[in-house]
Amino acid sequence: MKYQSLWQLEDDDKENCLDKDIDVDVLIIGGGITGLSTLYFLKDSNLRVALVEASRCYHGVSLYTTGKITYLQELVYQKLVKKYGFDVAKKYLTSQLEAIDLLVKIINEEKIDCDLEKVNSYVVARNKKDLKKVEKEKETLEKMGVKVFKSKWAIGVMDTYVFQPIKYLKRIKEIGKKSGKEIYEMTRIKEMVKIEDGYICKTDKNTIKAKLVVVACHYPFFLKPYLMPVKVRCEKSYITASKSKNLGYSWISSDGNYSARYHHNYIINLGGSYNIANKLKEKKNFERVIEYTKNRGLIPSYVWKNDDMISVDGMPYIGKIEKNNDSLLMGTAYNTWGMTNGTLAGKLISDMILGKYNKYENLFDPLRVNIWQHSWALMINSLLNIKGFMESKIVGSHKCPHMGCSLVYNSVNNTWDCPCHASRFWKDGNLIKGPSKENMKFK
Ligand SMILES: Cc1cc2nc3c(=O)[nH]c(=O)nc-3n(C[C@H](O)[C@H](O)[C@H](O)COP(=O)(O)OP(=O)(O)OC[C@H]3O[C@@H](n4cnc5c(N)ncnc54)[C@H](O)[C@@H]3O)c2cc1C
Repeated sequence: MKYQSLWQLEDDDKENCLDKDIDVDVLIIGGGITGLSTLYFLKDSNLRVALVEASRCYHGVSLYTTGKITYLQELVYQKLVKKYGFDVAKKYLTSQLEAIDLLVKIINEEKIDCDLEKVNSYVVARNKKDLKKVEKEKETLEKMGVKVFKSKWAIGVMDTYVFQPIKYLKRIKEIGKKSGKEIYEMTRIKEMVKIEDGYICKTDKNTIKAKLVVVACHYPFFLKPYLMPVKVRCEKSYITASKSKNLGYSWISSDGNYSARYHHNYIINLGGSYNIANKLKEKKNFERVIEYTKNRGLIPSYVWKNDDMISVDGMPYIGKIEKNNDSLLMGTAYNTWGMTNGTLAGKLISDMILGKYNKYENLFDPLRVNIWQHSWALMINSLLNIKGFMESKIVGSHKCPHMGCSLVYNSVNNTWDCPCHASRFWKDGNLIKGPSKENMKFK
């Protein structure tokens, strides 16, 4: 059994690390689906665009996704109707349908070989109480004009897809590079300073002057502006891939904690999602997903872990981070639906940069998060941060440089994991992923 993502490909190109100071129109920070999609949609512009990636491109959260491209996303539509009303929920649906069309169009037009497969998607109820909610989701979707079919415990829709996300992103990176846009890997931004006409961004050795910065780094490495820790909660999930006959569909449980899809002769099972502040014994979490897989008569060949960010209202944060600041844009918090939303973010952000109208600008505006309207969610996020912090003090040891939580040792991956905001470090303290921007220090 390999403790790595099924999608892991050999890097056959040499990384191009930034070794000089540069001056660009647009700096994109992060080479996952958000950053690479933004680069892609800017490829034909005359702007000087550079993308910097702290590690290798697509080695962040995007490497560990399950790679479903679907608009059937647990029970999101009834939740959005409750929060914002029918029209806003329907607009979210339209955005997801358009994102799917956009992804498929890019794959076809660019002839990207990424194992794209059309499948039906299902949401499955885990018990009778959940079944009522699943039926309500069917009703909601039908009112929005979607054809939904039902079996005893599940509802399903057509025209959704699965793909090999890294084959897709690898090609998107190549296309971006070929168009003359710059990509620098192993280049981490550690500091951003606002200047009159943009930002000065600093790496360990160099400086990038940019008129506009796109924060596509999943969990931003800065606290202000936006105060991300209160605007999101982090969720961790455990996944296996096992040899299996391909039955050609995908499903997710109504609570989002379990799911499956097929890829060639593998089944990919998501077998447990938890708030990051819970279940701190990582070895147990891995054992649980392995047991879950074996109980289904399968033998895991691959097993891995992933973290994602959940917004306060079930809708992503894409757009301006600060009022009256057009030179800082962000795309993140996709609520575990980053294949559609990361692509949408690339399109929306590039439209904003190019001054083009995009009908989703208001829907995803990160500044919509109003303290009064979302006070409960913001308070829960703050409490979860405190819980993670307190529990980490009992279980963990060395301090995370980000906000001082104690790091918990993950003996499966030999990493130090932050139970508050999902930073990870290698055994020797070297940073794997942020929001921390520094290596950890041993006491
Ligand atoms: C278990 C699980 C299953 C999922 N399954 C699905 C699915 O089936 N379908 C779906 O649509 N979505 C799914 N998602 C969600 C999706 O994978 C993510 O939302 C998406 O990959 C996030 O992409 P990103 O580009 O924002 O982040 P990332 O892929 O993490 O990219 C951000 C990049 O920024 C870099 N970076 C960070 N800080 C810096 C810095 N300071 N300087 C330079 N670079 C930096 C990182 O190294 C990283 O490569 C899933 C998520 C999880 C957790």
